[in-house]
Amino acid sequence: RLARARTAIERHARLVPDFPEPGVAFKDLTPVLAAADGLAAVTEALADVCAGADLIAGIDARGFLLGGAIAHRLGIGVVAVRKGGKLPPPVVGVDYDLEYGSARLEVPASGIEFAGRRVAVVDDVLATGGTLCASVELLMRMGASVRDVAVVMELEGFPGRTRVEAAGGGSLRVHN
Ligand code: AMP
Repeated sequence: RLARARTAIERHARLVPDFPEPGVAFKDLTPVLAAADGLAAVTEALADVCAGADLIAGIDARGFLLGGAIAHRLGIGVVAVRKGGKLPPPVVGVDYDLEYGSARLEVPASGIEFAGRRVAVVDDVLATGGTLCASVELLMRMGASVRDVAVVMELEGFPGRTRVEAAGGGSLRVHN
């Protein structure tokens, strides 16, 4: 399954130089998800590593697409971890630092039971790990147990994996 996913990523992923800032090589996985073989291969590979979860958390925005597909395949539900200001109240959020400035992620504060759930967190790309660390911290604060973080692509030269595993308190694994 992993080999099939790698082939699909190589076939469909697009590298966009100098986006969103000069010097950043943006790995655009949108075409992977738009291709039937790409979506199927990536969904199957990530569903395998999320198999112990009973809820998927998909990170804004390509994590929503992946999270829904993975959750459906596993027969469980999905929750969107959204950028600040998008969800109706009540919400619970976390602020975190970006390279330039800061950002906020939020989940619903009512209507979804997080306490005691085994939540797997899904996103497309892991770079510095700031986004996933904030997501893991938020979900853990809500009482969820976060064991697995699944990403399609881990960028080399960043401390993302180490940071995310530390945020999970030692029992969390990052898969890609
Ligand atoms: P980070 O918080 O630095 O790990 O960044 C992860 C988030 O930003 C993910 O949601 C990605 O979609 C996006 N991202 C950061 N860097 C890149 C990159 N070079 N190519 C594609 N997406 C990126």
